[in-house]
Amino acid sequence: MSQTMTSTTVEVHTIVDLLQLRARENPFSAAYTFLRYGDTASESINYLQLDTRARAISNLLRHHGGEGKQVLLLYPSGIDYMAGYFGCLYAGAAAIPAYPPHSQRALPRIQAIVEDASASIVLTTSAVLNKVQQWTANVAGLTHLTWLATDSIDESTADAWVAPEIDGESLAFLQYTSGSTSTPKGVMVSHNNLLHNLSMLHDQFGIDANSVGVSWLPIFHDMGLIAGMLLPLYGNIPSVFMTPADFLQRPLRWLQAITEYKGTYSCAPNFAYELCLRRIGANDMEELDLSSWKVALNGAEPIRAETLHRFTKTFASCGFRPTSFMPGFGLAENTLMVSGEPLDAVPYIKNISRAALEENLIVPASGAIDDVQQLVGCGAAVRSKDVEIVIVNPDTLEACKPEEVGEIWISGPSVAQGYWQRPEETARTMQAHLVTGEGPFLRTGDLGAYQDGHLFVTGRLKDLIILGGRNYYPQDIEQTVEMSHPALRPGCSVAFSVEYDDEERLVVLAEVDHRYKFSEEDTNSPEVLAQARQEILRNIRRAIADYHDLTVARIVLLRINGIHKTSSGKVQRRACRTAFLANELNVWKA
Ligand code: ATP
Ligand code: MG
Repeated sequence: MSQTMTSTTVEVHTIVDLLQLRARENPFSAAYTFLRYGDTASESINYLQLDTRARAISNLLRHHGGEGKQVLLLYPSGIDYMAGYFGCLYAGAAAIPAYPPHSQRALPRIQAIVEDASASIVLTTSAVLNKVQQWTANVAGLTHLTWLATDSIDESTADAWVAPEIDGESLAFLQYTSGSTSTPKGVMVSHNNLLHNLSMLHDQFGIDANSVGVSWLPIFHDMGLIAGMLLPLYGNIPSVFMTPADFLQRPLRWLQAITEYKGTYSCAPNFAYELCLRRIGANDMEELDLSSWKVALNGAEPIRAETLHRFTKTFASCGFRPTSFMPGFGLAENTLMVSGEPLDAVPYIKNISRAALEENLIVPASGAIDDVQQLVGCGAAVRSKDVEIVIVNPDTLEACKPEEVGEIWISGPSVAQGYWQRPEETARTMQAHLVTGEGPFLRTGDLGAYQDGHLFVTGRLKDLIILGGRNYYPQDIEQTVEMSHPALRPGCSVAFSVEYDDEERLVVLAEVDHRYKFSEEDTNSPEVLAQARQEILRNIRRAIADYHDLTVARIVLLRINGIHKTSSGKVQRRACRTAFLANELNVWKA
């Protein structure tokens, strides 16, 4: 693939070419501005410095035999992360974005990735190295690793750099999936995949000379790395970023950064918009100006129409425009983005029939008030010339009719090369064919329908709950649960089914915020808590009966953080189910 990146036509075949081009043509433009503690711009790097550091790191890697190898990145969010990432690419090595363990308990995830990817080198900072190396000294599977700290690298070594022998087909990095439904798998993303998806994002977001990207997303996750950090490089625009922890601790910092730097695009999962609604008060809102924000991408997890409504309404007084929300769908196996609603359009929300959805159909809601469910459209395939979305019956492999729900299949140049060292899974997932022989397609494992240029994602095939022959989507039941009592934590419940006496029955797990004030008294007495517990259980049962016409077999109330989640914050329903069956849940005892 070759791309025209500037007015002077320059062939860009790889991400290495891209950064080299920027360093040549715009050496002193700021590439990244990092807001340490989320507030102050304490660090900034221009393209020339970034290119120099990448060359120096690549030489260090080569010196340790890293050329063409798989290299683990264990940096905290920051400029060093990106320098290390480019350093790998500059050495023709495959980067594996990960994050430093906070404690010894986080070592198994790293162990699993090191083993799966056969990684032998870790790039990190000296601070992480000092802390982590002592933990890993005796851990099987980690003792062979060569650890290299790059934060104080001698930049004078950059001159010796020789460009790697790579092309568009070469592997750029291994993106481990979040692990929502199974153990994380390494998706092989090539330079061509990346450049194709970046050009999609560029068009979709309407990136121009005035664009500014703002991000707090984790860099080890595809949306954070590609939309947050690589798109600014591709679009030749500034990128302002902070750590996920600084955002989570004080969500206001995200909107403050958009205000201060006149951010034009910023992406986040639905829960982040929800967090802003709950944690940003009227006083704080006075200082916000969100009028520069043209693209507020919402994706990576189910999008709630409710959240879009409330966020738009609440932040209208800060200049947030109803056309700024851009619901989108994507996954690591397609590099990142698949589809999105058009730029400058209001979200497309469809009122559909809940009863029909249980029978795999998306049709307009009937008149009955309790039959209405709102689905948020995720737009058409971006650049539909070379990207195709088809909805397929996962059993018969036949294409579905527009009103039918089926598995979402994708084809196009962004579909990744495969799962690292998993040929069977690669063939099954990324080289699927329709019954007619048409293909190959990527099977996303997600269910949905495609109508009038809008993709509707209804849920994950693996998480679907089938009770009495009807289909129920766990996230809908979870939303009902979370709204049934104010002490239940948003985004912290799961629904799944378990077989009791030869019959599939519904089980619900939900985290309770024990700090919630259940009575007028200052502290919650044991009697008050016991009463509250009964009330919560009653509310959950009643809400599920009212909204879904279902009886719950078991409800387990959990302590905070009792729900298993991925490092990108998604619930892991299967892991929760396994823990439930093994009696290993962190139960809230009122
Ligand atoms: P694993 O594949 O390991 O189980 P994961 O699928 O969560 O983890 P990612 O590639 O990070 O890994 O996430 C992609 C998934 O996120 C999609 O397959 C889909 O299930 C979900 N997703 C993305 N966008 C949306 C959306 N707009 N609505 C609903 N779900 C979405
Ligand atoms: Mg997945």
